[in-house]
Amino acid sequence: MTTRRYPLAPFLQLTGWSLNRTQEVAPCNGTEWRLRNEHGVTELIGDRLACAAGFHPHEIWPEMLDHAIADLPDRACAASDCTERFLSDDPRQKFCTPRCKARAWARAHRETQDGTDKNNAARRRYYADHKAYERGRQRRSYWADPERERARKRTERARKRPDLGPRVTTPGAPSERAEEAA
Ligand SMILES: [Zn+2]
Repeated sequence: MTTRRYPLAPFLQLTGWSLNRTQEVAPCNGTEWRLRNEHGVTELIGDRLACAAGFHPHEIWPEMLDHAIADLPDRACAASDCTERFLSDDPRQKFCTPRCKARAWARAHRETQDGTDKNNAARRRYYADHKAYERGRQRRSYWADPERERARKRTERARKRPDLGPRVTTPGAPSERAEEAA
């Protein structure tokens, strides 16, 4: 990234720019000016120049892509049963593939008692916090309540014998007594 390894010659040839024009896009002091002419520019400056001239930097310096790949840290997969090495520019990536990650996760969470307990605790925590789940639980316990069915039968009986049972009115509908009176 910071190595000075991209000569200015191919850039000037391809774009027809003068050295003074590069100075306008990427200003620098005399020392830097001399170094750029002798040893070329870094990826950062090369990218800025190429973009200003309407090119992708890889068009001017194709070796930049190889350098970018070679510069990636080569790491070993964190899964204990995997010997793969992988290249990634993400420092957080620890596994070569999502499969390895899932396998390692399953081993940590399902195949040990400690992991299983933690997993179950996390699940309970999630469902306790979750409002939709809590509403569903209340709904199920309401419909599963035997007292609800007994209350419905009492209401049914009372409606069949309006003179004996308690007076029942259904919300939104007129009572039977009101109908008789009419
Ligand atoms: Zn792996």
